Amino acid sequence: MSLQGKVALVTGGSRGIGQAVVLALADAGAAVALCARHGEAAAEAAKAVEARGGQALGMAADVGRTEDAERLITTCLDRFGRLDILVNNAGITRDGLILRMKDEDWDQVLSVNLDGAFRCTRAALRPMLKQKQGGRIINISSVVGSMGNIGQANYVASKAGLMGLTRALAREVASRAITVNAVAPGFIQTEMTAGLSDQVKQAQRAQIPLGRFGTAQEVAAVVTFLASDGAGYITGQVIHVNGGMWLS
Ligand code: NAP
Repeated sequence: MSLQGKVALVTGGSRGIGQAVVLALADAGAAVALCARHGEAAAEAAKAVEARGGQALGMAADVGRTEDAERLITTCLDRFGRLDILVNNAGITRDGLILRMKDEDWDQVLSVNLDGAFRCTRAALRPMLKQKQGGRIINISSVVGSMGNIGQANYVASKAGLMGLTRALAREVASRAITVNAVAPGFIQTEMTAGLSDQVKQAQRAQIPLGRFGTAQEVAAVVTFLASDGAGYITGQVIHVNGGMWLS
C-alpha cells in the first residue's frame, strides 16, 4: 500500500490514534501535516516522523475554530503544494448524565468532534476539487455512535453526526472520485480511555468478544487502507474496529 507522492492532513495527530495514523500514513510514503491545540506536542509528533525518514509538519490549531481550520489547509498547501487525504480525528469527551450536562459541555464536544470535521472538510475540499485527482476523507467516529452509551449524550451525538456527515458527503463528492468513509473504533488504549476506573474497564472488556482492548495501530491500519488506491471503490461506509463489541 503505497501513498508515495500523496499529502495527508491529520487533525489531533499529536498522540493516541491520531499519532498512530500520522506514523502509518508517513510509513506508507505520504507527507503528513498534523495539528493539535498544543503546538509543542504537534511539533514533537512531526519530529518523530522525520526521525523515521518521512516528511511532516506539526501545527498548533483548534479545529473548534473556523479560522484555525482554514489556516491548517492553507499552511499545508504552502508547505506541501497539495492535499489528498484528510483524517478528521481530533476529538474530546465531556461525560455526564444529561440532566446534569452543562450547555458548555454539549457545545464544546459538538464544536470539536462534529463542527471541526465539517470545517476542515469544507476547507480541504477546495484544493482537492481543484487538483482533479480525487481524494480521501476519513472521519474517526466511534462504536458508541452506533450503539449509544450512558453518560455520553454529547459525544454519542457528535459521533453519530459524523456517520451522517460521512454518508451525505460521500454522495456529494463521489462524482469527483473523492471517497468519504468513517472508522468507528471500539475501546482503544489511549490517553482518552486511560483515566477510566478499573471497574469500568473490566465491564467494557467483558463486552468484547476478542477479550482485549484495541491498539491505536490497529485503527491506523484501517485508516491507511481507506486512504490507499486499493480502497477506491469504498465510499459512504462506517468501518467498525471494535473486537466484536458491536456487530452491525
Ligand atoms: P486522545 O489520546 O485524547 O488524543 C486526542 C488528540 O486530539 C490529541 O492530539 C489532542 O491534542 C487533539 N485534539 C483535541 N482537541 C482538539 C482540538 N480542538 N483541535 C485540534 N486537536 C485537538 O484521543 P484518542 O483516544 O486518540 O482519540 C482520537 C479519536 O478517536 C477521537 O475522535 C476519539 O473520539 C476517537 N475514538 C477514540 C476511542 C478510544 O477508545 N480511545 C474510541 C472511539 C473513538 P491537544 O490536546 O493538544 O489538542
